[in-house]
Amino acid sequence: MSTFPVTRLRRLRRTSGLRGLVRETRLDLDDFVLPLFVGPEPQANPDLPGMARHSVDTLDAEAGELVRMGVKAVILFGIPDEKDEEGSGAWDDDGIIQRALRALRDRHPELVLLTDVCLCEYTSHGHCGALDGDEVDNDETLELLARAAVSHAEAGADAVAPSDMMDGRVAAIRTALDDRGFEATPIVAYSAKYASAFYGPFREAAESTPAFGDRRGYQMDPANVREALRECELDVDEGADMLMVKPALPCLDVIRAVREAFDHPLAAYNVSGEYAMIKAAGSKGLLDERQAALESLTAIKRAGADVVISYWTKELASWL
Ligand SMILES: [Zn+2]
Repeated sequence: MSTFPVTRLRRLRRTSGLRGLVRETRLDLDDFVLPLFVGPEPQANPDLPGMARHSVDTLDAEAGELVRMGVKAVILFGIPDEKDEEGSGAWDDDGIIQRALRALRDRHPELVLLTDVCLCEYTSHGHCGALDGDEVDNDETLELLARAAVSHAEAGADAVAPSDMMDGRVAAIRTALDDRGFEATPIVAYSAKYASAFYGPFREAAESTPAFGDRRGYQMDPANVREALRECELDVDEGADMLMVKPALPCLDVIRAVREAFDHPLAAYNVSGEYAMIKAAGSKGLLDERQAALESLTAIKRAGADVVISYWTKELASWL
């Protein structure tokens, strides 16, 4: 191997054109998914501009603007009018997500519509499944999740994304979808979803903070990476079409490990706390938000993600 002075790596960094020629990782809007919140009424979120809540009506206008800007995909989160113990709003045919899906499906056929499948936005206790005492009952929850996923497919979802972290939920959802004639609906599994401190702003936006306890009994311990591979393996065996790691920036090593172990398409969720930190630092003038966002998103791609779910997707459309 030749060394200095024959080799000078700075030669290819000299101009923007040369750097572009040898750039290894690029951001392409085709790979990005924007999370959208829909509830009974629009509600601004001054602390997090990317996380305002839409009504079904304002969502339609927003989707139109997104399509014009070149955004290809969104993932929908619903905030229902009323919550109950079971979380029945999650599979209500006239529920918030189902109405939003029907409206968007008709008006914006080109927009890819993913839906988050979970119960925590719909349960009065804010946990991701049915309770047995103070614990979430895994097996009781599976049928409820499957019902929610089927109702999303019926209302026009292009893919369903279970985020609950119950064991066996991918198989339960696959079976239920197939039984109802939705064999063509893919499952994007939140396979390695960690019990992360970085979800804080989302919980405020989605009103899904648990009324008691936390989610460590079902979401993964941030200390583990081998366990993430086991989660992915189970989801693959149960029929997941795409895998996901969440959060993204604190888990770049997990993204890399999953990328190397599986050939399935891999998504990473650049979560609300990752976004909020940079927004806050940017607004204080501590760093340049756009540069920091682009560097973060590039790092997530470089680690091995094919698809990135990010609150910056709309801004990215104007930056690229
Ligand atoms: Zn949940």
